[in-house]
Amino acid sequence: MNMDWQTGKVIKIIKETHNTNRYIIEAMQMDTFDFLPGQFITLDLPIHLKKNKRLRSYSIASAPDSSNQFELLISLVEDGLGTPFIFQQVKEGDELTFRGPHGVFTLPTNINSDLFLICTGTGIAPFRSMINHIYQQQIGFSNVYIIFGTRTQNDLLYYNELRELENKMKNFHFIPVLSREQWEGKSGYVHPIYMELSHNNPNAQFMLCGWRNMVDEARANLNTAGFNKTQIHFELYG
Ligand SMILES: Cc1cc2nc3c(=O)[nH]c(=O)nc-3n(C[C@H](O)[C@H](O)[C@H](O)COP(=O)(O)OP(=O)(O)OC[C@H]3O[C@@H](n4cnc5c(N)ncnc54)[C@H](O)[C@@H]3O)c2cc1C
Repeated sequence: MNMDWQTGKVIKIIKETHNTNRYIIEAMQMDTFDFLPGQFITLDLPIHLKKNKRLRSYSIASAPDSSNQFELLISLVEDGLGTPFIFQQVKEGDELTFRGPHGVFTLPTNINSDLFLICTGTGIAPFRSMINHIYQQQIGFSNVYIIFGTRTQNDLLYYNELRELENKMKNFHFIPVLSREQWEGKSGYVHPIYMELSHNNPNAQFMLCGWRNMVDEARANLNTAGFNKTQIHFELYG
């Protein structure tokens, strides 16, 4: 774990949806920025005098590629402090102060049982890193499911990329679920989807990522269904 503060230059900002941007960051003091898929970095944003009120963490959304660049996927929280600063003030070419990578929310060493990656909103970021890593490194797996909850088709993140990976990777299943729209895919909440798919699958592994309401409900459902705590891993955004 790297606890030193570093400078990250914003190389590119890509608008992903009406309220979510992708930020490509270059770690300026390093030739290679090493991390494991699922880890996060912490930004020190100039939004408060007290340091502990300035820190905001973001999952790394890209797969490690031996370069010194990485990607963040950030949603605007209109009544927040940090993200309005990021969306209004941060421009391409600007420098940010960050620390990391941190975290233990990473892939199992052997993916030898079915893996359910369950997320809402920008909670998809670590899973986008993981599935690209599995693809690029040709890591073996039985079945991997990304079950991604969001509101409408306008809120879908990395949709085309994940559909293309699904077409290229046998046994990778990308299941977006819309809570506020009927469409060609699944509608409703993520919970019935993983419950049904993991039924009669006692060795399944679960990774949950996002805000507390979804993560808490999923943990409770999986506990009730008899899955053991060692099978359930989670990253809470808040
Ligand atoms: C390990 C980790 C990884 C994270 N990765 C990402 C990421 O990849 N992308 C990303 O956009 N955010 C991520 N977050 C959340 C991020 O750190 C900030 O909390 C978020 O950007 C809001 O910051 P803010 O300063 O704008 O809001 P704040 O000033 O911190 O206040 C916002 C308030 O609203 C709450 N809140 C905001 N949005 C929601 C929501 N959708 N549901 C419920 N409560 C909410 C917060 O808990 C807080 O109380 C991550 C958090 C952690 C701990």
